[in-house]
Amino acid sequence: MKKPINHNNKRSYTISSLKKKNYKLVKQIENESKGMHSDEMVALMKFEKNLRQCASISLYAQQGRIINHIASHTCKHKACFVCNFLRQKKIRRKYLNWFIKNPVFYRVQLASDKTKLVTRFQHEHYYTDKPVVATVPYDIMHLTLTVPHTLDGGYRGQTFYQQELRKAFNLMRKTDAWLELVYGGEFGIEITKNDNGLHIHIHSLILVKRVTRNRNKVHRMILLEWNKYTVDPSYKRKPFTKEDIEKIKKGNSLLTDADIKKLSLKGSTMINLKTICGSDDIQKSDEEGRKKIMIGVLEAISYHFEPQTFDKKSGGFNIPLLIELMPKLYKLRIYDRIGILYRESSLSMTNNAFVEDLEEIKQLNIDGLNNGLLQSDFFITNPALLYHDRENDNRIILSNAAIDRRIDLSAGTTNQALGEMSEYAKAMHKDKFDYN
Ligand SMILES: [Zn+2]
Repeated sequence: MKKPINHNNKRSYTISSLKKKNYKLVKQIENESKGMHSDEMVALMKFEKNLRQCASISLYAQQGRIINHIASHTCKHKACFVCNFLRQKKIRRKYLNWFIKNPVFYRVQLASDKTKLVTRFQHEHYYTDKPVVATVPYDIMHLTLTVPHTLDGGYRGQTFYQQELRKAFNLMRKTDAWLELVYGGEFGIEITKNDNGLHIHIHSLILVKRVTRNRNKVHRMILLEWNKYTVDPSYKRKPFTKEDIEKIKKGNSLLTDADIKKLSLKGSTMINLKTICGSDDIQKSDEEGRKKIMIGVLEAISYHFEPQTFDKKSGGFNIPLLIELMPKLYKLRIYDRIGILYRESSLSMTNNAFVEDLEEIKQLNIDGLNNGLLQSDFFITNPALLYHDRENDNRIILSNAAIDRRIDLSAGTTNQALGEMSEYAKAMHKDKFDYN
């Protein structure tokens, strides 16, 4: 029997490691940006400040020798390592809960002779009085979309072409061909760098109509449409070779030579589409099966929040790339819901809470902590100063520095402690963080 993992300790270990990573990046920025003066540096300096302050104020609860991490005051920056980890956890939790509650959609009868497909939430909130004429299961797929780009020209004259990419995706989603097969989903934009400059692409989780061979039907439809909407007139490419054609046709027996002839050499000629599971598989499977499915689903989502672009294989970070991208990140929306999920407010990622993980705290299974049976001592310290006993279930150990810097709170309950932490954060950081 494997020992159950202490998730709270594991999470605490990750937050401490990522906070240290934030500091490492701060140090490298300081070393490499000496003497630099430019507008771009303004955004970088702001980022540096966020990296320093993010999670420096973290709340812990101690019961005897046991210490639990409760929450951290975070900066919300798109490229912050701590925030990306917490954001990813949050979005995963939201989707997991959502899929469990939504094995089917509902087709409701509107006043006219029209019907409309809605989610359970939408039915309960906006269409309560409309009769349900059918329940509709769907399939979940992971779609990856790229555009042709070159080192000199980028894509359509832009080296940072996320807006152009987004526009092409928007246009494709308005076509009848798309609407016929895809109900909706979510997508994120990921940026990496390769030999052809910035590689900006879309990862999308799509909820698809359940028809026979739907993976191939949807793949063919998207390939043909995406090719049309991604044409860059300045893109030069040699005519398809036999091998090119084989490569395009590989994995989809529905693609014909006539389809290939329709493809423009100036548009994208490759897409990636993978079936993850059926919406009702999640309910049907045992715990192990459900876990497997969720890993597939969450893999598609997790891509959006990894600022690994800045990690160099050799260790350290790619500072010139950071300087280049930082001012652009402000404009970048990293997560969007589409189609039937557009109005699904339970999947919204907007943050009103001062503390990122309030919801998660409620789900934490800390013995006695939530029901007030055990007296906890709450304190604030910097997670970078903690040790985790890797041999002993990541048990949290305070270093001398952590003890020195420890601020003991007077709170008696978790809620009070969170309130006190917010007060400290406001007093210590004075100016508010940017919420991106
Ligand atoms: Zn942060």
